[in-house]
Amino acid sequence: MSKSISLLLKAAAFAAERHRRQKRKDHEATPYINHPLEVARLLAEEGSMRDAEVLAAALLHDVIEDTRTTRRELERRFGDRVAALVAEVTDDKRLPKQVRKRLQIEHAPRMSRAAALIKIADKTCNLRDIRERPPKGWSAARRRGYFAHARAVVDGLPVKKHAVLAAFRRVATPRRAATP
Ligand code: NDP
Ligand code: ZN
Repeated sequence: MSKSISLLLKAAAFAAERHRRQKRKDHEATPYINHPLEVARLLAEEGSMRDAEVLAAALLHDVIEDTRTTRRELERRFGDRVAALVAEVTDDKRLPKQVRKRLQIEHAPRMSRAAALIKIADKTCNLRDIRERPPKGWSAARRRGYFAHARAVVDGLPVKKHAVLAAFRRVATPRRAATP
């Protein structure tokens, strides 16, 4: 088996284990692992990403933020680069939510290109989820608020042309009513 395939299977298995008790916020309470799997799939298929370490970081992108996993543990298991990419896309959950949201916008311009691509793929998947399987109890205003925040983060990232950015724009841009 190639090193890349082995890294990806190891990352998928580790993320599945760490997220095993978590669900998405939609009505069906989809298993949480479906989201990181979809972020990595989007990067690989729609974004033609072939760098296995970036795809592994996409599979692991929520494990520091949402589970007891530390950056050090990721370094040990997956190497410094994968751990650094996950750390770059991780919010500090000790901070209040509004501060975290502001910092996401402030930090966007300083992100590495690879971390920025993971971030765009993450936002794209979340916007698709809000359209197709929205969180329970979210009003239209809250959905609009999330879309506006995602656009503000992605606008600040150092990626101005990429297939993943095109995918983001397709879901983030309000659709015009078809002209008769
Ligand atoms: P949250 O951060 O609470 O929830 C969104 C996050 O939940 C996503 O980033 C995603 O994170 C995760 N998620 C899990 N399941 C789903 C799903 N089915 N679809 C999409 N995302 C899912 O949202 P916000 O607090 O940011 O609320 C959105 C906006 O609404 C805010 O920007 C604010 O302006 C506005 N608003 C907020 C209110 C509030 O009470 N907080 C009230 C009214 C308006 P991950 O990728 O990490 O899994
Ligand atoms: Zn995510």
